[in-house]
Amino acid sequence: SGRWSRVAAVIKEFEERAATPIGKLRQVADAMTVEMHAGLASEGGSKLKMLISYVDNLPTGDETGLFYALDLGGTNFRVLRVQLGGKEKRVVKQEFEEVSIPPHLMVGGSDELFDFIASALAKFVAAEGDDFHLPIGRQRELGFTFSFPVGEDVVAELTRAMERQGLDMRVSALVNDTIGTLAGGRYFDHDVVAAVILGTGTNAAYVERAHAIPKWHGLLPKSGEMVSASSSNMVINMEWGNFRSSHLPLTDYDQALDAASLNPGEQIFEKLMSGMYLGEILRRVLLKLATETALFGDTVPPKLETPFILRTPAMSSIHHDNSPDLKVVGTKLKELLGIPNTSLKTRKVVVQICDIVAKRGARLAAAGIVGILKKIGRDAPPKDGSKLPKTVIAMDGGLYEHYTIFSDCLQSTLKEMLGPEASTSIVIKLANDGSGIGASLLAASHSQYL
Ligand code: ADP
Ligand code: MG
Repeated sequence: SGRWSRVAAVIKEFEERAATPIGKLRQVADAMTVEMHAGLASEGGSKLKMLISYVDNLPTGDETGLFYALDLGGTNFRVLRVQLGGKEKRVVKQEFEEVSIPPHLMVGGSDELFDFIASALAKFVAAEGDDFHLPIGRQRELGFTFSFPVGEDVVAELTRAMERQGLDMRVSALVNDTIGTLAGGRYFDHDVVAAVILGTGTNAAYVERAHAIPKWHGLLPKSGEMVSASSSNMVINMEWGNFRSSHLPLTDYDQALDAASLNPGEQIFEKLMSGMYLGEILRRVLLKLATETALFGDTVPPKLETPFILRTPAMSSIHHDNSPDLKVVGTKLKELLGIPNTSLKTRKVVVQICDIVAKRGARLAAAGIVGILKKIGRDAPPKDGSKLPKTVIAMDGGLYEHYTIFSDCLQSTLKEMLGPEASTSIVIKLANDGSGIGASLLAASHSQYL
């Protein structure tokens, strides 16, 4: 009928605009490399901030003692305690607790948010078992990771909130969560060179050679001087969510999403791939199908007009529905959007849109990773004929962890871009709660008792 050909036309147009053929992905990867150079050359030289972290002492493995971490993400936070046993015993024991942040605290004043966090921390400390040991007379020490760039004053704010809770704890390290993930990844595997987060938001960090950072005016080791290998390296927090390029396959849906967002024109890369936005892109395409092709009947389902009503976890369960009649899809459409009695054909359309949205995001994330590998010369075997060293990317975030079609697609796209030879040396390793462990390790290496 006329309706289904209109449906097909809308899908076809979206599919074409959102397409990520390998040639386009290579352009995106190259643009990422170019922007990385620009961001390292000067402050404000690129949309990529390429923040120098001054974490030049990544964990060595010698760390010992009891340390804490607080990992504050976009939607939840984790508190963690780790008993470190040094080179021999490594992580003796660890425990964590995850708390979701009530949405009103995310928008309200930060005092309330920090009181909420400090109170959870105090409870966590109070419930500590005997197998964790804090030497007598010592203050507890905490590594604090954030998923967004923050000023130093958050340390003061958290410290005051902890005092209000009567919790005697010192914040000894404040790092971005990608850097926490990199540090945690390194502790377990020395071949980790970069960390990527794909959760509510997205970001990446990697290890750069100091001499490749023109904007860093610190003291560089003089040639011929005895220096430790680590002092010639710097960890860079790319803030890659803000990457943009004319090569990105932006559709009208993306433009509209961006225009309606709290930060129009910013975080364009993130808006194409992170957990905060995938479900919202899906909703926008479905709304177009409802209004222009009557996909869900003669009236537009009112709930479909509510921004962010379709969350990415729901999209993920729709996308992963393997039942012959797409039962989960039917249930979700009914429960979340108030659309009853959908036909199998309609459900298939919804799944097809999920597929286009998720795979575009995953393929672009892979291209971003290839951009980093190119920057550090790890995307292909060296020209001298030697073998490409083993190269590990530590990955964290609920999107990558739970959205299997997304993570599988990212992995296969990485292989597709790198080719069979380089692919054997390059691995993505899920660093579950990597940022938390990393933060506690950084608390240890920045301890007041060293
Ligand atoms: P944060 O990014 O807040 O630090 P996480 O790394 O745990 O926290 O990621 C949480 C995000 O991961 C959620 O906002 C959501 O977008 C995404 N996510 C969580 N569970 C799923 C799922 N089952 N399928 C797809 N995405 C998920
Ligand atoms: Mg996180």
